[in-house]
Amino acid sequence: CFSRVGFVGLGNMGGHMARNLLEKGHKLIVFDVNESAVLNLTAIGADRASNPADLARDVEVVVSMLPSNQHVLDVYDIKNGLLSSAKRDTLLIDSSTIDPFVSQTLAKEAEKSGVRFIDSPVSGGVNAAKDGTLTFMVGGSKVNFELVVPLLKSMGSRIVHCGDVGMGQAAKLCNNMLLAVSMIGTAEAFNLGQKLGLDPKVLADIVNSSTGRCWSSELYNPTPGILDNVPSSKNYEGGFGAALMAKDLGLVQSAAAKVEASIPLGSLAHQIYRAIIAHGFAKKDFSIVYQFLKGQK
Ligand code: NAD
Repeated sequence: CFSRVGFVGLGNMGGHMARNLLEKGHKLIVFDVNESAVLNLTAIGADRASNPADLARDVEVVVSMLPSNQHVLDVYDIKNGLLSSAKRDTLLIDSSTIDPFVSQTLAKEAEKSGVRFIDSPVSGGVNAAKDGTLTFMVGGSKVNFELVVPLLKSMGSRIVHCGDVGMGQAAKLCNNMLLAVSMIGTAEAFNLGQKLGLDPKVLADIVNSSTGRCWSSELYNPTPGILDNVPSSKNYEGGFGAALMAKDLGLVQSAAAKVEASIPLGSLAHQIYRAIIAHGFAKKDFSIVYQFLKGQK
């Protein structure tokens, strides 16, 4: 068990994750560039640090939950970030969704000063962060994995060891690429069905008991009115924003280019989500692709 935990990045996800750590009895010291995000946590008992270097100085473990590559590189910076002051054996856990190659670079930097790094992106979204039921996809040595499981259990219900550093990110990116492709495919099929005169409920019934079935058709159908309690039935509010999906697909694109993997549908999905953002749908749930294809504003 760790006596003092640092947390950097107290946004939509990190704010809830940090609160869960506090509520499970961990002593917490936090940092965010956004003052009001910090105040939310100090109001319920967290201490604050004035920058990442100060935060790393007196903790045994740090969790970070930042938007993307550059924010993570800035916070971990070897000259004035976490890596400039973390003591030997400190465990740095990055739960942001970023490029697996950036995670691997940071792990190498950390190793030079005897600091341990693991990547541990999550799936589950804001509600799972709130309820402490996230899935953590962990990349790192078996020893480091075993060490962090109890801490991650304070924020999640499923903690999976995916392999060495970077493999948590690899698993997350592969899953999200497949999700984007299957969501677009579902939206296309339901648009086509409707234009051919088919009742979408009948189509859902057929697809979900046939070979076209997938998570997007069965549990998150993008057609309004098929399922209650999904974003498509609530004007595409809440859920997983189209802008975040586009960001993840951008990471997929650059990771695939580095290893020369062919991802024709993943690349197309990236461009479709970029167009969706240009159309003004950045903040809508990613199932908005249904309305985008249908041609609605
Ligand atoms: P967010 O933008 O709400 O929060 C990010 C926080 O980081 C903000 O509070 C911001 O002020 C802070 N920050 C930015 N730069 C900083 C810096 N240099 N130093 C300190 N703090 C800094 O993002 P989020 O929705 O919480 O997502 C965080 C990560 O989790 C992203 O990588 C995202 O892709 C991933 N993720 C999000 C969801 C989701 O549904 N929101 C689901 C799974 C994974």
